Amino acid sequence: MNDTILRVEQLSVSFATETDRLTAVEDVSFRLHRGETLGLVGESGCGKSVTALSIMRLLPQPAGRIEAGRILLQETDIVRLPAADLPGLRGRRIAMIFQEPMTALNPVHRIGRQVAEAVHLHRPELDERTVAREVVTMLEKVRIPEPAARVKAYPHQISGGMRQRVMIAMALAARPDILIADEPTTALDVTIQAQILSLMRDLQAETGTAILFITHDLGVIAELCHRVAVMYAGRIVESAAVEALFRSPRHPYTRGLMAAVPRLDRTPKSPLATIEGTVPALGTMPPGCRFANRCPQAMERCHRAPPPLTEVADGHAVACYLYS
Ligand code: SF4
Repeated sequence: MNDTILRVEQLSVSFATETDRLTAVEDVSFRLHRGETLGLVGESGCGKSVTALSIMRLLPQPAGRIEAGRILLQETDIVRLPAADLPGLRGRRIAMIFQEPMTALNPVHRIGRQVAEAVHLHRPELDERTVAREVVTMLEKVRIPEPAARVKAYPHQISGGMRQRVMIAMALAARPDILIADEPTTALDVTIQAQILSLMRDLQAETGTAILFITHDLGVIAELCHRVAVMYAGRIVESAAVEALFRSPRHPYTRGLMAAVPRLDRTPKSPLATIEGTVPALGTMPPGCRFANRCPQAMERCHRAPPPLTEVADGHAVACYLYS
C-alpha cells in the first residue's frame, strides 16, 4: 500500500512538571495508508495515547508540547497548523473515539440530536429532514437495533456497547480521512468487543477510512490490524505487517509481550510468562536502549545510545542492537 494519508516523522512530545520538562514520546515515526488499519500497541504510559492526542493537537494545555517532528496529513503539517484551522481538522479530516464514550457524549442530550450535530457540523448544507434521515442511516450502519426509535434515547438509557456504536456513528458522520480509536473496546465485555471490532472492519471496508487503532491488547491487533507498531517507554521498538510480527517477533520486548499472552494449549495452572522488572519512569530514562534494564540479551553497547529503528526485512523494522 503506497497511498500514504498520514506521516508522523520524528515526533517528540514533552510535559511540564512543577520543576522540569519530561519527554513522553521521542523520535516516533510511522505512516498510515488509505484503507488500512495500523495498530499502535504497548503498555499503559508508553506514549501511544500521547501520540494520538498530538495528531489531533489535543495535548493537555499548557503542560503538553510538541518538541520536534512533523505530522503530515497529506501535505499539511498539523504541528504547524494555526489554531483557527484546527476545527476544520478535528472531526472533518481526523475523528477520534475513546475508551469511555460517556466522556464524549453529552448526558443531557438525546443520541439522535448528538449524531445530528455531528452530521450538521460537517455538512451544513443539508436541511433538517435530510440530516434526520442521515442520523437514522448512520445508526443503522453501526447496527443499532430500531434506530428510528433509538434516536430519542439518552446515553444512560443504552448499554456501553451501544454508546460506543453511537460514538463510531458520530465519528464517521463527517466521513473523515482518518479515524483514531483509542482503546475503544477495552471497557467492553469480550462478546461486545468482538461485535465492535467486526463493525469497524466492515465500516472500513465500506468507507476506506484509514484507522489508527491504539490498544494494549495483542489479540485485538491480530483481529483487526494490517500493520502494527510496538511502543515501549515513548519509542517505537518494532513495526511490521501483523502476520510478520506474530510469525517472527524480533525485539526482545515484543517477544516478551507475545510470551505473556495466555494460551489455551498451555498446561493448566502452569505459570504465566512475565517480563521481569518495570518500565523506567519518565525523567529517569537511560541514555541507551530503554528496555535494557529488563532485557535478557542486553549487551554493553545497549547502555550507551538508543538503537536506531532499522529495517530487517521488507516492511519489518526493529530498534535493537541484536540486528544492527
Ligand atoms: Fe535488549 Fe540491547 Fe536489543 Fe535493547 S538493544 S532490546 S537491551 S539487546
